[in-house]
Amino acid sequence: MSKRRILFCTSEAYPFAKTGGLGDVAHALPKALSATESVDLIMPLYQSIDRAAFSIVPLHKELHLTLGQRLFCVTLYECVYEEVRHIFVYEPLLCDREFLYGAPNAGYADNALRFGIFCHAITALLGESHYDIAHLNDWQSALVALLLKEKKSPTKTLLTIHNLAYQGIFECATLESIGIDKRHFHMDALEFYGSLNFLKGGIAFCDWLTTVSEVYAQEILTPAFGCGLEGFLEHHKGKLSGIINGLDERDFHPLHDRLITHPFANATQKAANKRAYLQAANLKGMRTPLFIFIGRFTHQKGLNLLTQILPSLAQEACNIVILGDGDASFQTPLLEVAKNHTNIRLHFEYNELHSHTLYASADFLLMPSLFEPCGLNQLIAMRYGAIPIVHSVGGLKESVQAIKDFDPKTPKGYGLLFTHPSAAAFHEAIQEALNLYKERKKFAKIRKHNMACDFSWRKSSVKYSTLYTKLLRSSE
Ligand code: ADP
Repeated sequence: MSKRRILFCTSEAYPFAKTGGLGDVAHALPKALSATESVDLIMPLYQSIDRAAFSIVPLHKELHLTLGQRLFCVTLYECVYEEVRHIFVYEPLLCDREFLYGAPNAGYADNALRFGIFCHAITALLGESHYDIAHLNDWQSALVALLLKEKKSPTKTLLTIHNLAYQGIFECATLESIGIDKRHFHMDALEFYGSLNFLKGGIAFCDWLTTVSEVYAQEILTPAFGCGLEGFLEHHKGKLSGIINGLDERDFHPLHDRLITHPFANATQKAANKRAYLQAANLKGMRTPLFIFIGRFTHQKGLNLLTQILPSLAQEACNIVILGDGDASFQTPLLEVAKNHTNIRLHFEYNELHSHTLYASADFLLMPSLFEPCGLNQLIAMRYGAIPIVHSVGGLKESVQAIKDFDPKTPKGYGLLFTHPSAAAFHEAIQEALNLYKERKKFAKIRKHNMACDFSWRKSSVKYSTLYTKLLRSSE
């Protein structure tokens, strides 16, 4: 039987461009799916992508698009990376920018047009080349679902929401300039409190909708997590399901990780990473726990909770390292605490190499996210023998089991959870972690168990394949 043709549409994919979890997923999932499907990935050719390093070559193909009154000429490029064909969309307005979406906390003013061009380019390509499924991701490619329905295309669409907090909301006046018919501007499609909402359009027109964990798929139907779309999602819940993310087995494998200095298969070997890191960071404390936080500096990641517990945690015999970038207003209170403590290191940057070094060195990961669609950090941490301390929400609730329920026979990973997003509850969980660290045998047993768990894409990619089958059957 010939493989189904899938076009995986994304605004970012590691290692070409990554700002967060979507970049990791867009790299690993198409690879995992390739076992059973024929997957091509399509993304913008941002100026930051090194064409020569990845042998990206022109496809000698142009797409001529009309959006409102303007004509755009889009050129396509391609390369094969880790067995997956990557198609790149180049158009200066879309691609020639310093950032992917805008400076931290401020999207580019013309993002509607930029990603409107991206969606029209994908739709034009789908008009010329046969694909069974267009797998869309987040608001940046969501409008493809609407454009394909308009064209009565036979290609089925699956839209995956990686984070409902980002919907692509713009002034309604932009509608015409991005080549979308005004008749779609109503409450059952693109209209959202008088504005234009890309993601809502995608939800309305896609054939199926997924989020990146089953728990988050339920949570987004409630006002606390629905970001204003809970009612609309409730209406569409008949085509909504959750599939938990996995990790790329090559990039996040402690024994094969090319970014760490001491690849490891067990806790004893892992210790070499901690030793080297502490030395490089001028810290002492091989026998005290190393806590890390890695993440975007946004309200979502629970930085307020982190800032609140930091002074008391810093008084314990431990080291704490924080790596993150984003909203600079979160830096000041962290700097304030750090100046009084020699066991805190702050790194306000995005640094892939540094993040891998930290996962490899750490004993505990702090992840007090207020909401978390899936979260990859906790999976990476468990794989690398760092025990996660997480707020029990979304994908964190689904992927981390409480240590008090430890059962060596379950294939799931363990960590410390707190239910209420308060500094007191977070603090309590950290206290448990400090106690656990003193129980050397128990700590070692859990660390070993977590490192052996399967956090790969194996099971979840099969679930996506099953969904594709279901979608294609529905059109027979
Ligand atoms: P989100 O997509 O909300 O940012 P995820 O947990 O899904 O969060 O994925 C985050 C990914 O980005 C992980 O691979 C994490 O290691 C990485 N990451 C986040 N912040 C940084 C940073 N400052 N430097 C390096 N990697 C980072």
